[in-house]
Amino acid sequence: MRAFSGDIYLAGKKHRAIAFDRSGIVALDDSVFDLDVEVEELGSHFLTNAFMDGHAHPLFAGREELGPVVTEARSVAEIQSIVGAWVEANQTPQWAVGGAYDRSMVDGGVFLAKWLDEVSGDRPVVLHGSDHHTLWANSAAMQLAGVLEAAPEVSIGSIDVDSSGRPSGVFRETEAKELITNAIPPLSVDDELKALAWAQKRLASLGISAVQDAWMDKGMVEAYLEAAKRDELLVRTNLAFWVRPESWREDSAMFLDQRVQVSQTNHRLLTASTVKFFADGVFGSATASVKKPYDSQPGYFGDPVWSDEELKAAVAHFAAEDFQIHIHAIGDAGVASALDAIEYAGSPANSVVAHTELVADEDIPRFAKLGVIANFEPLWARQDGMLASCIHHLGRTRIDSMYRMRDLIDAGAHISFGSDWPVSSPDPILGVFTATHRALPETPDESWTPEQRISPEEALHAYTVAVSRQLNLPIDIADFVILSGNPLTSPILEIRILETVVDGKTVFSSQ
Ligand SMILES: [Zn+2]
Repeated sequence: MRAFSGDIYLAGKKHRAIAFDRSGIVALDDSVFDLDVEVEELGSHFLTNAFMDGHAHPLFAGREELGPVVTEARSVAEIQSIVGAWVEANQTPQWAVGGAYDRSMVDGGVFLAKWLDEVSGDRPVVLHGSDHHTLWANSAAMQLAGVLEAAPEVSIGSIDVDSSGRPSGVFRETEAKELITNAIPPLSVDDELKALAWAQKRLASLGISAVQDAWMDKGMVEAYLEAAKRDELLVRTNLAFWVRPESWREDSAMFLDQRVQVSQTNHRLLTASTVKFFADGVFGSATASVKKPYDSQPGYFGDPVWSDEELKAAVAHFAAEDFQIHIHAIGDAGVASALDAIEYAGSPANSVVAHTELVADEDIPRFAKLGVIANFEPLWARQDGMLASCIHHLGRTRIDSMYRMRDLIDAGAHISFGSDWPVSSPDPILGVFTATHRALPETPDESWTPEQRISPEEALHAYTVAVSRQLNLPIDIADFVILSGNPLTSPILEIRILETVVDGKTVFSSQ
């Protein structure tokens, strides 16, 4: 058992002392001092519920970390030098698969295979775009995937082509991307576990005790099962099975079976209770589905991934199998069809609409009415390159009505926070700053849309209580973070994570 006294803030309430062990909170306030336990003084430090990430892709992030990491690169030349150095330093894996390049660096995100060819020799190279809805491949990768000479037809998304109709390097949305990714040999179990361990450690170091891994792709459930068997998990993880329009009826039995396998590991930190749908794409590629046509393409409303009827049927099916519903929806039409499907399925408890970038006025009250959690990635609510790259698609007015956190809270909705890591940083301190300022860290007073800012208390709630509700975790579990100061009263960006406790056990310490 451990006990602390000082500045303590749990689920929106202040306390002066706490004692906990692996079973959860044992005592609060005065009764702590009656226990036969040494009470540690927090001094200027601050103890609160650990952060939780309601939508992220830690294993994708870890896999990318094994390849060339181009996230910080600011030009194509910098990307070339990182990829060139990686190819030279690593003989295996043969495929250089990394990320995440900033799509806004080149107009329209039109990156060319030949730029990678210049530094990759005969090695196949695949880089994920920062939105993770696009990828950039070199000629060797396209050759091995059998798409070098001609671009196959895809029904959703697109393949960039050159003047002679040959693929030029960029593949947009799942169906197009899979032409390349299906050709990539699977990682070894050891590499998968290395990727996962790296990702879990990174989350723990940021004060995060639980995460919704929001997309199980090939080999990922198996990696988590193996990590659970070897007891290598640090952070609570809930897995979401990916429900696809073309195969959900066949896939359903496999999800049920994998859910059983996960529960049979009896690992306290691992669950698999969620299914994930993509209602639409993203704004950067103009694939999110919108109620009014894109400014950039008259008469075009984006690419819904599902027909409304089929999405309703699939959501109802998985809700009846007792899966939690988690739907990616970015455009206002995508959000509306996600809400329609959840309503049709009888509003299953704690259903989540993730991203909720554009929500029409008429749909705002439906979140509270249907009990749907709106999961935001707060780091997107700022005027940066990603936002700017969508202006020509949406126009200024629509851009400035994105991420309506204040409106949803005021309408009585639950909002939870996540990162969509590796799409953006998983750092919740940066997330709290952005939600409360809607500004860039270097210009904190230049708020992009100040009317949608929320308070530090609301931001902490969205990162803790709201995600624990989303993940169906009791709020008195022993998941805490010790911070260097009080985030409610001191400048948030100066706060550092000193210790992260998951299930009563320290999983990160800055000492
Ligand atoms: Zn995501």
